[in-house]
Amino acid sequence: MTAPILRSRAELRGMTRPWRLAGDTIGVVPTMGALHDGHLSLVAAAKQTCDRVIVTIFVNPRQFGSPEDLANYPRTETSDAAKLARFDVDAIYVPDGDEMYPDGFATTVSVTGLTEVMDGIHRPGHFEGVATVVAKLFAQTSATDAFFGEKDFQQLQVVRRMARDLDIGVTVHGCPTIREIDGLAMSSRNLLLSDRARVTAPVLLEQMQALADAAIEGRDYAAAQRASIRALERAGFTGVDYLEMRANDDLSLLTAPMRPARLFAAAWLAGVRLIDNIAVEG
Ligand code: AMP
Repeated sequence: MTAPILRSRAELRGMTRPWRLAGDTIGVVPTMGALHDGHLSLVAAAKQTCDRVIVTIFVNPRQFGSPEDLANYPRTETSDAAKLARFDVDAIYVPDGDEMYPDGFATTVSVTGLTEVMDGIHRPGHFEGVATVVAKLFAQTSATDAFFGEKDFQQLQVVRRMARDLDIGVTVHGCPTIREIDGLAMSSRNLLLSDRARVTAPVLLEQMQALADAAIEGRDYAAAQRASIRALERAGFTGVDYLEMRANDDLSLLTAPMRPARLFAAAWLAGVRLIDNIAVEG
């Protein structure tokens, strides 16, 4: 059944009021739309866990660094709603910019530490935008649970920290990354890749795996890291923002997997920035 599309906070409050009174658990799946099977896996997890499920679609201007990137971001609301139909979600919340950031809006949620590495450096202001909109979506939806992908592992940890620090009573669930058959992590941005770039894109995961294997086997990590970056450049990646191993919990830099660790990468291919991460485990 097609879920109702709600565009205002007032409609959303009206819809959730009886759920809250009944003590239902409410799961929220925040997205920016252009839904793919990665997003839908979060929806499935939410349906399994919660009495009620709200999917939000909002291309949040505050988490984009450049106006071109925001303008180019794919928007596919009709097909998104069609994809959600088979999941029988309770509501799709699609606020517009004014609903989310009315005149006079002046508050920013800022998480320190976790945001001072990787995308926090390469995308200044990005995580403030994310933490602010997620805090608002949690409040607006009356969520008890929220579902985020490990695909954006740094974001997942930032959201967890924010919810804990601000005593927001939402349980944040992390869900595994869903990949294409050739290993490329599903992403709305993959739609922006040319056919040629799409063929090259899986090299990112191959090189992350090669570096993770070197770390697990105790080989010269710095040399393996340099070799992987060179291999990416040879394959056609035009810039590697980072390719590094970090601890799961506090994202501190590691050169050996002494603690539970992940390999993180962000790299540019034909004008599209791809990000990915994998667990480093033997
Ligand atoms: P986005 O629409 O890109 O903001 O993503 C919305 C949510 O879907 C975030 O929690 C992402 O981490 C998650 N997500 C995006 N791609 C994937 C994927 N390939 N597998 C699992 N979750 C994903």
